[in-house]
Amino acid sequence: MLHLYNTLSRKLEPFQPMGAKVKMYTCGPTVYGFAHIGNFRTFITEDLLRRVIEANGYPVIQVMNLTDVDDKTMKGANDRNMPLREFTDIYIKAFFEDLKSLKVEGIAHFPRATDAIPSMLLMIQKLIDKGFAYQAEDKSVYFRVHAFKEYGKLSHLDRQSLVAGASERVNQDEYSKDNLCDFALWKAYDPKIDGPIFWESPYGRGRPGWHIECSAMAQDFLGPSIDLHCGGVDLVFPHHENEIAQSECCNHAPFSRYWLHVEHLHVDGKKMSKSLGNFYTLRDLIDKGFTGREVRALMAQSHYRMPLNFTLEGLNSVRQALDRIDQFLDRLKNSDSSGAEEFPIEETESAFMDAVNQDLNFPKAFAILFDMIRDVNKGLDQKKLSQHAVKKILSSIENLDRILGCLQKEEQSVSEAVLELVEARKLARSERRFQDADKIRNEIIALGYELEDVTNGTKVKKRHPCNIQKNTVTD
Ligand code: AMP
Ligand code: ZN
Repeated sequence: MLHLYNTLSRKLEPFQPMGAKVKMYTCGPTVYGFAHIGNFRTFITEDLLRRVIEANGYPVIQVMNLTDVDDKTMKGANDRNMPLREFTDIYIKAFFEDLKSLKVEGIAHFPRATDAIPSMLLMIQKLIDKGFAYQAEDKSVYFRVHAFKEYGKLSHLDRQSLVAGASERVNQDEYSKDNLCDFALWKAYDPKIDGPIFWESPYGRGRPGWHIECSAMAQDFLGPSIDLHCGGVDLVFPHHENEIAQSECCNHAPFSRYWLHVEHLHVDGKKMSKSLGNFYTLRDLIDKGFTGREVRALMAQSHYRMPLNFTLEGLNSVRQALDRIDQFLDRLKNSDSSGAEEFPIEETESAFMDAVNQDLNFPKAFAILFDMIRDVNKGLDQKKLSQHAVKKILSSIENLDRILGCLQKEEQSVSEAVLELVEARKLARSERRFQDADKIRNEIIALGYELEDVTNGTKVKKRHPCNIQKNTVTD
């Protein structure tokens, strides 16, 4: 049975959904630039979690919002003199492309905050009517933190200090833990900062606060109570704490039963973030010759509750591990092993599921997979395994990959120009013009590919960045 560490209770708990379909809300990206691979650590973990829940037999409705209105998106659009929607469209499109490369799949809805403003206004009005919110002299509407007795239950912060800070008000989406205060639900229009971006409302022109966006979109797509809410650890406070306050005061129902938070991807001990400038986008890494599959595997092989320090060397070792898996799969597919022995692959599958069901212990799951590869390789060396065993192992790996999404090789596209060079080199070799063949080979390498001569021809593939020095080779 699946057990997850619940931030709300600070305990490992059995995962028991409320109904036939698991309602899962995941805070999505703020679309003012390309998402970095720190963001993707969180999104890949959420994808792995959804696949694990599904493997346990529960269908999931996953919602991931797109934060397309906040301080940063508005500044980005205004700095470039672009309409907000046109500006955020660019990064939403790029985000979807990145999710595809990373095999983050199966998300049912991607609501945009700007499409949910009427629902946010309804929630805000309900909160005002119930005495949980008020419009201040600056025309912004604030949530009255001290009115919600359970405020602080997720972040486990001292309520006294939270309430003590409640007299201050900060009209910003992001503020530090020192500013523990009433937070904005609706931000009054400031023409100097907001420029042409505003919405009309009963409280005057303005735009929503960041926290109400998620409460409203979760309710629109999943209802007042959900099973599971996820994000990176930086969202525990204030974002998720505030979502709970808004949703529970509005609906008088528990908001989410389980809260799962992903530790940060670090660089040299610091959180990877746009503000520190220490980030890589997926595009940066693809330009360096890495693939979405490798980035996904890097994130998958770590434990989500431990910070992960990102290095290019770490990504290179993941590539080597994936190469071992590729060789193993090729070997199985081409195996002529005609022994009589079976292999207890069911044991591997069930040990793998036990590991991932224990709070997503993917490091252990990978160790189980590599132990199996070592044992099967021995059986293949000794030609002891039956063809039936080989087929069963291949089909088990397909099953495990429904969760991992990184075991099967990606089809590589090789450009027409390179394929023509490969043919020209083949001809040169067959005519014993070895100097010409050398030259062509070096041209292919200079284009970023590598060649491997095999019995029935030549394999060509994109060169790995760690082989970059080996750019002249002779036949
Ligand atoms: P943002 O685009 O800033 O709204 O963040 C989108 C998601 O990425 C949120 O769930 C964040 O908590 C998460 N996130 C941001 N930085 C990191 C990081 N360095 N490591 C892991 N998750 C992160
Ligand atoms: Zn959110």
